[in-house]
Amino acid sequence: MELVSIPGQGAKGKVWIVGAGPGDVELLTLKAYRVLKQADAVLYDALVSQDILDLIPQSAEKIAVGKRAGKHSAGQDEINQVLVTKAYTRKNVVRLKGGDPFIFGRGGEELQTLAETGVAFEVVPGITAASGTAAYAGIPLTHRDFAQGVTFITGHCQLQSRPMDWQGYANPNNTLVVYMGILNAEIIRDGLMSSGRDGDTPVAIVSKATTASQQRFIGKLSELSQLAADPALQMPALMIIGEVVSLADSLNWFNPQEYSAAPIQSQVGI
Ligand code: SAH
Repeated sequence: MELVSIPGQGAKGKVWIVGAGPGDVELLTLKAYRVLKQADAVLYDALVSQDILDLIPQSAEKIAVGKRAGKHSAGQDEINQVLVTKAYTRKNVVRLKGGDPFIFGRGGEELQTLAETGVAFEVVPGITAASGTAAYAGIPLTHRDFAQGVTFITGHCQLQSRPMDWQGYANPNNTLVVYMGILNAEIIRDGLMSSGRDGDTPVAIVSKATTASQQRFIGKLSELSQLAADPALQMPALMIIGEVVSLADSLNWFNPQEYSAAPIQSQVGI
């Protein structure tokens, strides 16, 4: 799709691509909060939590452009076009994304469009789902005794027809974090086990992490598809696969039922 920019005239505004973190409003950075408070227009994804959307100023235009697996809303070309158009008509445009914009968030793709059309931009990182989930589920992603590295992969799309490095992901000294993998749990289990990862490897699926609705489903790799099919499992959900998951019981500090976010405005005087 051809992007429309106004010839001979630079965009007046600037776009901030902002990571909103995984859900808990208090995991928003101070910079993200300040930028959001100054926004004239905010384009946000389905993943951004309501508590964070409530921080958007009344005066700002709010545009939902979320995508959820299986449900169509605005396509990527359309989002790119709206971003560019808003940068021509508004001063402070915020593109608010769940987690971190540069981890499975298409932040890079959107920035390329802005760069091509001469729109000024900044990026504000956010806490990615893997970090938020690990912290709130009591699962350190690395640990000297269990995992010397961590890999983030997407489990979305046609995994069978894509070149997946199962051999690499099956490394027993590594933690594997799978974003968007719930619908492909069986393929992931088979890919890892057929490359030698032990069926007894501990795994966790954590849904709605860092929120009052967080739930953990813990088991072993051979049971991954049963865990993913649990009727109580809600989206979004993340998989963590590796020996570090064996710490999940002893390090479990977060009690979602007792959790309520403190009003953020009273905490930050900005
Ligand atoms: N840019 C985002 C990821 C977008 S992909 C980030 O950095 O976090 C969307 C996937 O992220 C979901 O399918 C899920 O696997 C994961 N995810 C996002 N928020 C989550 C949450 N609160 N709990 C569990 N998984 C989450």
